[in-house]
Amino acid sequence: MTNSFDIVVVGCGGGPSEDNLSSYLLKAADATWEDGIVALEAGSGIGALTRLLELHPDVFASESSEPQADVQITTAADVYSRIRCYLVTHAHLDHVNGLVLSAGSVQGPAKLVHGAKRTLEGVASIFSGEIWPKLASWEDAEVPGSSLLLSSLPSEDAYTSVARDISVRMVPISHGQNDGVPYPCTAFFVRNDPSNREFLFFGDVEPDSVSSEPKNLEIWRAAAPKIPETLSAIFIECSWPSGRADDILYGHLSPEHLAQELTALALEVVSSRQRSRSQGHSNGARKKKRRNAESLPSLRGALDGLRVYIIHCKDDIQKAYDKPIHEVIAGQVRELVEAKGLGAEIIAVEQGMHISASSILPDCTRDP
Ligand SMILES: [Zn+2]
Ligand SMILES: [Zn+2]
Repeated sequence: MTNSFDIVVVGCGGGPSEDNLSSYLLKAADATWEDGIVALEAGSGIGALTRLLELHPDVFASESSEPQADVQITTAADVYSRIRCYLVTHAHLDHVNGLVLSAGSVQGPAKLVHGAKRTLEGVASIFSGEIWPKLASWEDAEVPGSSLLLSSLPSEDAYTSVARDISVRMVPISHGQNDGVPYPCTAFFVRNDPSNREFLFFGDVEPDSVSSEPKNLEIWRAAAPKIPETLSAIFIECSWPSGRADDILYGHLSPEHLAQELTALALEVVSSRQRSRSQGHSNGARKKKRRNAESLPSLRGALDGLRVYIIHCKDDIQKAYDKPIHEVIAGQVRELVEAKGLGAEIIAVEQGMHISASSILPDCTRDP
């Protein structure tokens, strides 16, 4: 088993509880946390991290065989001082709260904040001096003393290096409406450069079937040829439990819609395999038409080897369920996906989890 990434889940809920908001710390598997950390989203911050370190003091312990007695990560401040950059999918508070509140307090060189231009303009507006002090500036117009440098990523096919051995490709997604206009959000393909292995991480996203600007299909098309050999993990939101009406999704997914999206992905995976098979068989026969193009292929097992990590479940503050909401929602998604026989494994992400996203058989453990 080749492991490509280590991810620590600082927060994974969809609000409103401020202590479990989208926040994932990431490193390449063969690097150490001391080498530098990529923060994927920045919802919950110092508070959640402090509690996590109290419960699991060894979560950032170096796994390197070489003794590093002089470097240790024991406090949230230690962790934050090693964050090299943030990757932010959109500027909603539940995804940026932690980077804002910590900006004036943490040590170390200025941290880059990567995202779409529009997202970073939203972040910049928080640091106007009114809502929060002017602690952020644009990378290409750096104001001395800034703790955060806003650095927009291209939304093209290209991968941009954001840390040693880690590159990302940002793709646009749709996250509901704002004043009747689609609200843009982003997803990231996150690649371990030496191994070329990736995972796919979605910001808040609405179903293609509901969106006025459906963008998910294009992402499924890009991901399909890589599944499961080079891309075996997808982190995707499912904010609501089953039965939520389409007109009150507010730019999010429900289990029914997520299962439909995964079916669209499975279809792309099958088509991609058929294409590569027919290319292999018809060497030189370029004009040969694809057979059975009109018949629907079987999707059974199409997503074998893929792990789908369910994130951003909105808190059950009314206590309508007798189980934690992320288990309820992941269970509902799992039932739908199993009924279709797609083969993907559905995992409820939990705060405090340490996830090893790897090539084909990822290892996923909750720290003791
Ligand atoms: Zn959110
Ligand atoms: Zn949002």
